[in-house]
Amino acid sequence: MKYTSVLSGALFLPLLAFCQGDDRGSENSRVPQNAGINWAKGANPGAAGPDNAAGPGNAGTRSANMLYHNGNIMPTAVIQSIFWGTSWGSYSGDKITGMDAWYTGFSNSNYAKTVDEYTGANGTVGATTSYTGHVIDTSASAGGGNTATILAEVCKVIKNSPEPHGNGYYPVYTDTPRGSAGYCAWHASGTCPGSSTVLQFAYFFKLDGDAGCDPGDTSGLHSQGLAAIANVSGHELSEARSDPSTTSSTGKPGWYDASGNENGDKCAWSFGAPLVTFSNSSQWKIQGEWSNAAYTAGTGYPNRSGQKGCLSGN
Ligand SMILES: [Zn+2]
Repeated sequence: MKYTSVLSGALFLPLLAFCQGDDRGSENSRVPQNAGINWAKGANPGAAGPDNAAGPGNAGTRSANMLYHNGNIMPTAVIQSIFWGTSWGSYSGDKITGMDAWYTGFSNSNYAKTVDEYTGANGTVGATTSYTGHVIDTSASAGGGNTATILAEVCKVIKNSPEPHGNGYYPVYTDTPRGSAGYCAWHASGTCPGSSTVLQFAYFFKLDGDAGCDPGDTSGLHSQGLAAIANVSGHELSEARSDPSTTSSTGKPGWYDASGNENGDKCAWSFGAPLVTFSNSSQWKIQGEWSNAAYTAGTGYPNRSGQKGCLSGN
């Protein structure tokens, strides 16, 4: 769903989260009052989330496809990841190296190409992205309940200098456990103090041992915690690329369906293959992204509502 509001002055436009389990009301209660957030739908098989109610496609009178809202998309993404929290200073596991590999291999992967059909006022989503590496900030991290807090962290780390063309994307990986929050991650946009350049950013909880956000990667290639943040990283980045925000120069959003679901939301927790191979040969268990073209042609795999519009690029 999309609750869009742009704050005066600083601004950000949080767009979505990725969650499992809770219903929308409870998710909503955890977000900043004046923040517009497009939450992913609950995907707990036992929970009837909004996607499972009378959503698009039911009754055959409405298309399941996403609609264009006259705004921008991300023609490319210049990505810098941020690992925030005291524990990263002495971290010796595989998450940092793993996410470096993930973002490096994402560019020009078949998975990245699942979003390249979407066109906006500023061009078309392209499969090529660039990754400038990670930054570690060992100050104490915060939870995901306040987008302004996370934007401030991004601005601090990048020294208020986002990528100048509006293609900057900054995923923030914290060492804060999810607790009772009804989402695993979210993405949003904003500007840094003294800057008019819009940047995209995303928030990630520490998902180690968190069954509600676990993709169930049994490949043995990654730790469970890495596999979990890798999966939701695909969701957030894919949504940012097709529906970056209304804080773009157009003031309008990109692509989402009649119920407010973005491409990641529509295929949340629906996997097309045990592993998806990226352009650097790294492999990940990663959920699919919605393709209007695949749905129309009947060539996608089904989401949790049985709509065959998902692609995972495997
Ligand atoms: Zn989402």
